[in-house]
Amino acid sequence: MPETYTTPKHPQIVTALPGPKAKALIEKDEKYISPSYTRGYPLTVQRGEGAMVQDVDGNWFLDFCAGIAVCATGHSHPQVVKAVEEQAKKFLHMSGTDFYYENMVALAETLDRVSPGNSPKKVFLCNSGTEAIEGALKLARYHTRRHGIISFYRSFHGRTYGAMSVSASKIPHRAKMGPNLPGVFNAHYPYAYRPFFGRTTPEAEAEACLEFIQTHLFKHVICPSEVAAILLEPVQGEGGYVVPPANWLPGLRKLCDEHGILLILDEVQSGIGRTGKMWAADHFNVEADILCSAKGLASGLPLGAIIAKSDVMTWPPGAHATTFGGNPVSCAAALATLELVEGSLMKNAEVQGQLLMSKLQDLVDRYDCLGEVRGLGLMVGLEVIESKVSKRKAHDLRDRIVDLCFESGLLILGCGDNTIRFCPPLIVDGEDIQTAVSILEKVLSHESS
Ligand code: PLP
Repeated sequence: MPETYTTPKHPQIVTALPGPKAKALIEKDEKYISPSYTRGYPLTVQRGEGAMVQDVDGNWFLDFCAGIAVCATGHSHPQVVKAVEEQAKKFLHMSGTDFYYENMVALAETLDRVSPGNSPKKVFLCNSGTEAIEGALKLARYHTRRHGIISFYRSFHGRTYGAMSVSASKIPHRAKMGPNLPGVFNAHYPYAYRPFFGRTTPEAEAEACLEFIQTHLFKHVICPSEVAAILLEPVQGEGGYVVPPANWLPGLRKLCDEHGILLILDEVQSGIGRTGKMWAADHFNVEADILCSAKGLASGLPLGAIIAKSDVMTWPPGAHATTFGGNPVSCAAALATLELVEGSLMKNAEVQGQLLMSKLQDLVDRYDCLGEVRGLGLMVGLEVIESKVSKRKAHDLRDRIVDLCFESGLLILGCGDNTIRFCPPLIVDGEDIQTAVSILEKVLSHESS
C-alpha cells in the first residue's frame, strides 16, 4: 500500500533543522557525493506536491526555488505524472539518434509552434541546459563557418567546456580548469542598478553596451565577419536576475543582422512560461536564430532543446547526436508541461509575479538593506545591500536571510553576489505569495533589530 499523506498549505517545521534523519543523510552524502555541489542549507527532500516540499523528518516547506526554476508545473503535477506513467509503460528508451518515435516529433512540432517569431524551426533534443548551449555553439560555428562567440559578463550557460567558456559568472566555476574554448569575447550586459558605463537611464546604458561591441570589440578585438554568434540570456539568471531594458535585445538583433551574426538566446532559466510569457524573448518581440531551452521544459525530467530556424539548422547527419537526448518519457512530460503552461500557468506567472513584485517593493521601501526588486513574471530578484546610500553588496547578509528563511519553512536561493531569487513553481497562488513575503519580512525585521 502506498503511504497516504496530506499536504499542508503552509510550512510546518516540527524538528530542529536539520532533523535527525536529515543529519544522517547529509553525513552519508558527504562520504559518497562529489564535494563540488554548492548546497547552501541542509534541505533533504522526501516528497513534494504542488509548491510544498517535505523533508525526511516530516518538516514541510514552501518552495520558492522549484529545484532551481525547474518544477514549472509544481512538484509531481498529476497530469505530468500520468503522462510519464503512460509512456513508461510503453517504452523507456529507443534513441532518437537512430530511430523514430511519435512524441519526439510531437514535441518538436509544439516547440516550433510556441517559439518566438514566424520562421519555421527545427529542434535538436538533448538532456540539459549545458548540452543545449554546447550544441548551439557547434551549430553556430558550423552554419556560419566563423569561430567568434560574443557572450556577456555575469552570464551563466552551464558546466561543460563550451558552456563554461562562454559563461563569465563566478571564478570557482572555471578556476584551475583552463584553458577554455578559444574565440570567446565578453561584453557588458546592461544592469541598470549598477551601470558599468554609468549612464543614468536603463536605455542609455543599453545603448552604451551596444556601442562597446561596435567601437571596442569590432574595432580592436575581433572582426565582425569572424563572429559566429552573440549569445545571451534575455534575463540574466545566475548572474543576479538582471532584466535588461526594452531596447537591448532589439539592438542586438539589429547588430547581428548587420553583420550576418547569429543571435543565440539562452532561455534555459527564463523560458517555459516563467516570465509570464512562453519565452522572455516574447517580452521584447525578438526572434532568435537559435534558442536554447531546458530546466522547466519537462517539469523536472531531464530534457534540453535547441530550437533553431530551419535554414540555420543545416548540419548533416553525424554532425551532432546523442544517445539519451529526447528520451520518450521526458518528451511525454514536456508535452504535458507545455499544455499546462499554455493553458493557464503562463498567465498565472504574470499575475502572481506582479503581486510578488508589489509586495517585495513594499519591503524595499521600508528596509534599508534592500536595494531593488526586479523581474518578469515569476523570475524575481531582490538585491540585498549594506545601505541605500552606499549600495554596497551585502553578500553575507543575503546568505543569512536565505538560511533564516529556510529555518522558517521558506525555500529560496541566492544568485549573483547579493541577490535573492524567487522562482517558485508557476502554480503558486496569492496565499503562497503572502506566506513567502511574510516569512521574509519576519526574517528581515529580526535582522534589522
Ligand atoms: N543556461 C542558464 C541560463 C542556466 O541558468 C543554466 C543552469 O542554471 C544552464 C544554462 C545550464 O543548465 P544545466 O544545469 O541543465 O546544464
